[in-house]
Amino acid sequence: MTTRYRCTACGNLTRFDVTTTRRTRAFHHFSVGGELVVEDEEVLDERVEEVSCRWCASPRAVVPLEEDDERATEASA
Ligand SMILES: [Zn+2]
Repeated sequence: MTTRYRCTACGNLTRFDVTTTRRTRAFHHFSVGGELVVEDEEVLDERVEEVSCRWCASPRAVVPLEEDDERATEASA
């Protein structure tokens, strides 16, 4: 499930700069010539550090959008 966001300052729902720390393990497959192909990348840990509104250029007003909120917004519209 993906988390959606909303900027409460400008109402933006679609454009965000997301800073994420990700710890991964992957199979690095080198050819004899030394060319690398990364395979089977597995995400061991993922942490979203900051979500910044693309228009406001600020993370201050950005809130995660719950599935329930989305349905409530549609119902009231
Ligand atoms: Zn904004």
